[in-house]
Amino acid sequence: MATPAKKPGWRDIPIGGRIEEAGNAHKYHVGGWRIRRPVWVKENCIHCLFCWVFCPDSAVEVHDGKMHGFDYNHCKGCGICAQECPAKDKAIEMRPEDVENKFDN
Ligand code: SF4
Ligand code: SF4
Repeated sequence: MATPAKKPGWRDIPIGGRIEEAGNAHKYHVGGWRIRRPVWVKENCIHCLFCWVFCPDSAVEVHDGKMHGFDYNHCKGCGICAQECPAKDKAIEMRPEDVENKFDN
């Protein structure tokens, strides 16, 4: 039978909870902080990528120069993308978070 991994004790945790490893933001899923989620309204999107430029968490997914939705693991729900979306009929709506689907796309 495998031995469970030992959890770090308080002596192992950096003082103040500092992040000592550079470039590790991808490992931290901050979607749990969210109370509202951005929902992409695909048919209204003009693929200007303003949402991608303004998102402070790199949580807008872009492939081949086109908007593809959100990475809900890393989206904190700040709403900046929806505010900056310039489409005449908004292409991002902020909706109340559904706790059941917190990390679902
Ligand atoms: S709500 Fe905020 S964190 Fe989430 S995708 Fe939009 S700008 Fe990024
Ligand atoms: S800002 Fe709005 S219109 Fe522009 S790519 Fe994002 S969702 Fe589409």
